[in-house]
Amino acid sequence: MKKVLIGITIIILGLLILLWKINFSKVHSKVITKIEEKDDILIAINYPQTKYNNLNRKIKNYINSYYSYFKDEFSSYKAKEKIELNIDYSYFLLKNKYLCITLYITVDTHSSDNNYKDIKTILYDTKSNKEILLTDIIKDHNKLINLIDDNLKYKYNTNNIDFNIDNLISNPFSINDKYLTIYIPSTDSNYDFYVIKISLKEFNLETKQVIAKTTYLENNMVIDPSKKVVALTFDDGPSIYTQDILNILNKYGVNATFFVLGNKVSMYKETLKYALKQGCEIGNHSYNHKWMIKLNENELKAQIEDTQNIIKKELGYTPTSLRPTYGSINDKIKNYSNFNIVLWNIDTLDWKIKNPKEIARRALKADDGDIILMHDIHKQTVNSLELIIPKLLKDGFQFVTISELKEIELLRKRL
Ligand code: ZN
Repeated sequence: MKKVLIGITIIILGLLILLWKINFSKVHSKVITKIEEKDDILIAINYPQTKYNNLNRKIKNYINSYYSYFKDEFSSYKAKEKIELNIDYSYFLLKNKYLCITLYITVDTHSSDNNYKDIKTILYDTKSNKEILLTDIIKDHNKLINLIDDNLKYKYNTNNIDFNIDNLISNPFSINDKYLTIYIPSTDSNYDFYVIKISLKEFNLETKQVIAKTTYLENNMVIDPSKKVVALTFDDGPSIYTQDILNILNKYGVNATFFVLGNKVSMYKETLKYALKQGCEIGNHSYNHKWMIKLNENELKAQIEDTQNIIKKELGYTPTSLRPTYGSINDKIKNYSNFNIVLWNIDTLDWKIKNPKEIARRALKADDGDIILMHDIHKQTVNSLELIIPKLLKDGFQFVTISELKEIELLRKRL
């Protein structure tokens, strides 16, 4: 009898986890990434597209307004350095019901003037399909105000902010599995925001995260160092196109390397697991595509390590290759010598050229040992692969990952 009960409990628990996972993956369907590089302007925008049209419209409105503001304000701006717009996001599904989307906006002119940071939050009730306020899920307003006051005093040594529940609701915030983080515009020139972290336990809102363990097969591909090799690499993903690319690679039995953005890893972790299973390599391409040569030590460290950590957490895999954003390298990046730091020999310009034939024409210039740069965030890139892979195979090329390419280079030196 006892055994039967234990058995039933395990089955019910299993079903609950399954339901939770299905629900979780249903909410977020894809991430949209827009990377532009034009004259002196660099733009990297990432935002989620959910299955809720109302919510998508709100997110899109924010993105569009920052995008046009940036273009209007800076397209004729004369600066010594390139100007950068970066929009990143985080999301969290609280209590299987409330979706919290936070957008982080940074305009960086790489000089002290005109720099700009902003945060926008949307808290969305997925059951009623409406945007709601933080105070709708946290009912004990006095406790919330007291905790914020304590935090301001203790962490920032400030008590000159007049704070009440009415002006609280206009401040951005984000939620993860442990904390509610509230961003209060700072009166101190040292910070853009006072960042207040409050444990969700204070409001009985904590969530238990279930992290799936994965295993992947070792890559059994045998490469002949005496024959030609080429490495296909895909940047700025994963995205909705990554799986299509994996299917084409699989069809021809070839591998590639995906230089991913850390902020997209969780949403496409199933795709990435599939990539690893196939024998593809996953490399680090920063967390949210900031222009890496302009970052200070700590910012650079965060971009690289946050990406390593999320890949490790979601896939149980540790990348060894790093591709700096916009292909720019400096000494600070070179100091990450534990990574294989990789650029490319052939730029297909697939983000700019919409014609698959033209993309293929550029890729087919490849020579032995070349690295081809592509992006797994465009439809035309997917379509060009059917023109590239069979032709290169016919010409006697072996497709290798970046790590395999490095091994081959070493092997050839020894031979
Ligand atoms: Zn990139």
